[in-house]
Amino acid sequence: MCGIIGVSGIADAARLTYLGLYALQHRGQESAGIVAINRDCNARSHRGMGLVSENFDDTALDRLPGDVAVGHTRYSTTGSTVLANAQPCSVNTRLGTLAIAHNGNLTNAVELKRELVEKGAIFTTSSDTEVLVHLIARSDAETVEGQIRDALEQVEGAYSLVIAAGRTLYAVVDSRGFRPLVLGRLGSGMVIASETCALDLVGASMACELEPGDFVRIDDGRVTELPRLSPRPVSRCVFELVYFARPDSTVFGESVDRVRRELGRELARERPATGDVVFSVPDSSNAMALGFSEVSGIKLEHGLIRNHYVGRTFINPTQNHRVEKVKIKFNPVRDVIHGKSCVVVDDSLVRGNTSRSLVRMIRAAGAREVHLRLASPPITGPCHYGIDTPTREELIAASHSIEEIREFLGVDSLGYLSLDGMLRAAGSHTGFCHACFSGQYPTPVPEDLVQLRHASPLIATPA
Ligand code: AMP
Repeated sequence: MCGIIGVSGIADAARLTYLGLYALQHRGQESAGIVAINRDCNARSHRGMGLVSENFDDTALDRLPGDVAVGHTRYSTTGSTVLANAQPCSVNTRLGTLAIAHNGNLTNAVELKRELVEKGAIFTTSSDTEVLVHLIARSDAETVEGQIRDALEQVEGAYSLVIAAGRTLYAVVDSRGFRPLVLGRLGSGMVIASETCALDLVGASMACELEPGDFVRIDDGRVTELPRLSPRPVSRCVFELVYFARPDSTVFGESVDRVRRELGRELARERPATGDVVFSVPDSSNAMALGFSEVSGIKLEHGLIRNHYVGRTFINPTQNHRVEKVKIKFNPVRDVIHGKSCVVVDDSLVRGNTSRSLVRMIRAAGAREVHLRLASPPITGPCHYGIDTPTREELIAASHSIEEIREFLGVDSLGYLSLDGMLRAAGSHTGFCHACFSGQYPTPVPEDLVQLRHASPLIATPA
């Protein structure tokens, strides 16, 4: 998953992009980058591993002059965690300089890459985005716009893109609309961002959310709507609302906070629990615990405190490291928990490791009973569209019954929200991708996609 941003027609665009990237840090913490383009069409780039704050200082930003910029925060789902894969991806092509920031995953990238390599293409990264770059650069179309359209017609899967071609910005969302992208106005300039919280931070007012298939061009802050991509059935990622997006954002026309509270209310109605206190696993499920408390009448408390200086646990590749990080990340509030029957609300259960450690921690703090309630259904399949879910083998709900999971976690009771309940809270029964919960993938997915990606990196992985 990633956060992307584009700025056009605003002086010192790199500084604004840098600010915006701060608001999108939750969408990716592995690398951060900015490409800025000045009036003479010179593009300069700065990318590095780690957080936005670790990569940019005044000196770095001074080296990125211009009133057009593209920024990216990366959270790898495919491709390894190396600088070569950091974005924006910038290249020189027949029609000029391109800088691309991509959020999403292409489901036919491996296939396309193979074909391109056979035709002589050289790849320097293992990310899907480079496939797009090649397709754009190789298109015979006479305009960049035409080249981008040509390339997009060949790819399948999820993409929200911001592309700088010279001083022109393009923003496009795939026809199924998996990932969000919003357009904001700031003075006479425009800002494009993955989430509205980035517009808020830079002081831009929301102009519109790009709809599935929308394709726009922005020149010096002026927006031109281009012909839309061929329509497909809409499948917005429901997990953006459940977990990924920030609660202060509006995503797919919905307030994320409102949806999360409603998920909590639905959960309390569907899977009631009796307890002395209810608390969230902060921060992603805070609003859900609020909703649960409202409907159940159980007092809302802060039972766990999160250390905000630790990154998301999923970034750690090995099981051992993950477990250690969980301990650094959360600490129980003993006074709240001791002697109580606790209802713990979390947004989702993936491998079960974090929750198992948390339950142990809560019991060690003196809980009499622990009742875990999850504000989404069992995750039974990997995401092929940009969320970092592990392989099916690692997903606890793919191979265990609810009773087996309850036992593994060590809780007194366990309740998941139903698919229907989740979709009701999200505001509709149609138009969402819920493949990770339901197994209904909205695009063709090669059966062995996960293995294919690992078997065909097509470049050596740096040591
Ligand atoms: P676990 O108990 O190991 O299954 O981890 C569950 C926790 O991971 C929940 O608190 C979720 O908020 C969080 N989570 C869910 N999906 C992701 C993801 N794609 N990346 C990072 N954390 C996630």
